[in-house]
Amino acid sequence: MLSLTTAVGELRGVGPVTERELKARGIHTVGDLMLLSPIRWQTEKLYPLSAERVGEFSGFRLTVDSDASTVHAKGRGRFLRYLCSDEDGTRVTLLFFNQIYLKNQIRKGQELFAFGVLQEKKGAFSLFSPKLRKEAPEGVRIRPIYAATHSISSEKTEKLLGLLPDGLFDQISETLPTSTLKRLSLPARGKALLTLHRPRSEEELQLAKKRFSFEAIFRFCVQARLFHRQSTGETVQGLIPKRSLDEFIASLPFSLTEAQRRAIGEIARDMTSKGRIPPMHRLLQGDVGSGKTAVAAAAAYLCAMGGKSTLVMAPTEILATQHANSFARFFEPFDVPVLLLTGSTPKRARDKILRITQGNEPYILIGTHALVEEGAVCRGIGLTVCDEQHRFGVRHRTLLGDKNEGVHTLVMSATPIPRSLAMFLYTGENISVLDELPPGRQAVDTFYIGQEKLERLYGFIRRRCEAGEKALIVCPLIEDEEGESPLQSAVEEWKQVKKTLPSLSVGLLHGKMKSEEKETALNDLIEGKTQVLVSTTVIEVGVDVPRATVMVIQNAERFGLSQLHQLRGRVGRGKEKAWCFLVSSHPAKSARERLKKLCDCHDGFELARFDLEHRGPGDFFGTRQSGFEAALSVGMGMEEMTSVSNEAELFLNEAGPEELIPYERATRLN
Ligand code: ADP
Ligand code: MG
Repeated sequence: MLSLTTAVGELRGVGPVTERELKARGIHTVGDLMLLSPIRWQTEKLYPLSAERVGEFSGFRLTVDSDASTVHAKGRGRFLRYLCSDEDGTRVTLLFFNQIYLKNQIRKGQELFAFGVLQEKKGAFSLFSPKLRKEAPEGVRIRPIYAATHSISSEKTEKLLGLLPDGLFDQISETLPTSTLKRLSLPARGKALLTLHRPRSEEELQLAKKRFSFEAIFRFCVQARLFHRQSTGETVQGLIPKRSLDEFIASLPFSLTEAQRRAIGEIARDMTSKGRIPPMHRLLQGDVGSGKTAVAAAAAYLCAMGGKSTLVMAPTEILATQHANSFARFFEPFDVPVLLLTGSTPKRARDKILRITQGNEPYILIGTHALVEEGAVCRGIGLTVCDEQHRFGVRHRTLLGDKNEGVHTLVMSATPIPRSLAMFLYTGENISVLDELPPGRQAVDTFYIGQEKLERLYGFIRRRCEAGEKALIVCPLIEDEEGESPLQSAVEEWKQVKKTLPSLSVGLLHGKMKSEEKETALNDLIEGKTQVLVSTTVIEVGVDVPRATVMVIQNAERFGLSQLHQLRGRVGRGKEKAWCFLVSSHPAKSARERLKKLCDCHDGFELARFDLEHRGPGDFFGTRQSGFEAALSVGMGMEEMTSVSNEAELFLNEAGPEELIPYERATRLN
């Protein structure tokens, strides 16, 4: 008997390889599998063959006009080829890669239904490995598409989920108050989940999506209100800095932008009033490169000069390290120790840090979420700074709030939340916006190029590097051991670049490396020991490399526009001109349009909106999705947002925060 707790390894069709890969994705039980959200849905609808369908997923009713012929592709195996035509006699070539067994299944004269993305070259249509069906589809079928990994295709995931009876979904426990579901006519969690995997109609799917978006915003609102309530009534002693802020500002290696000055002024007002004051809760919002770090450092300075310490939390080790370096530079003239604590800090260093944090002198402690666990032992904290808060999810934030009552909080974010929505979501929080980039910044020239232009691109990289600049190349995969993936892997690209550009030194950075190795790779680039760094998206958030002017992103179609914008933000942070090359040979029109948008647009907010409209929010579960994305993804207006907020208020009045069931527990039987 299947249950939510049945191990995935017991499912039919799950061998050791699949099991390992599922586990690597955090899927251990049938319940975990059920919570795996499709990334999008395809509507299986029949069309006549026409140029209009090129690049789009479509279904075609075809007659097979030829027997199979085999085509040998150099070094890539064999293709099976059939010529077909639709009712109007329009022709199309069907190509199947390494699926020789199909030879006996498709015969000349036969009718079949083929589903795939239509391609066109010089007026000739073709379909690459389309899905085939012998019977006409009944009505319009909506099919879930799951993120594919190495050996688990979307179809495989669909098949595995298909083994689960409908009734099993009823066992998924509810995470929203039943009264709320009733009032808003939203489906129960189990039902909605079943719909995401097996939608019966577009309407049903929309309602299920709405339920999950509602839940994301609801949680966000509950947390925000909770945070607000915890701190209302609470007061702290206003800081009295013993050295002036002007001294700090004068010591900076650049002069501040107007926006930075304004934000620092707002923060100073929050933290340095006389007597007992409510603690600051401020959101510092600014696009990539707007200079949030210097603002945070000014806040930390005020804190230190007032005799208190600062905790800075970053989402990744790389970013924490980088922050530690920046802060160390900023605080060198002021004799305030800057400490770095991450999951991989060795015990001895950790003990030393903990000794300092037990002392009475102010310090600045920077780290990853390991800090949260250590937070309790820190003394004299006056300020916490949380960078890229959406990466932590709300949970961490509450944790931090719990452990450090009466502490000023500064949340930094490059997530483009419109002001009105931000005010609404972050109840009681004040917002400072950096709406200005430091002077001399130029928009990064962005190009969309095909794989075939790579040779020339490498030549360009060589010339830039010879001029003393640096290049970053980002790949979607770490390594492609079986050599099967159509995606470029970092390891492979690294070998390739080293071979093509022997005069340059080329580094490699990815998530599977040990953290000292990662740090070395990044430092080598920063210090100029390497000129080109090939990496995965670990480079994404906040990393600052002086004189990096070329960014290359392989298989750019794989990334969201906001993510591409963040990646692009890694270059062009100085006065020099910078370039970003989006490499993609993806034929789909929608993919091309998204990438072209990035070439023309340098506004993070506009890009986020465009992406949501054209791609959908991707992941409905977990704390990954911010309330903002959830709201936009289902087109929720202010009115509906207000109803969510009211429900959150009601919930907190009637129940209590402890009754908000964590997502992690949601697959348990009761
Ligand atoms: P983000 O807002 O993305 O976190 P950073 O704080 O990392 O941006 O700043 C990006 C770069 O701009 C850093 O190299 C920083 O030293 C530099 N910078 C910040 N403020 C200014 C300024 N006012 N003038 C010149 N450069 C600045
Ligand atoms: Mg930053």
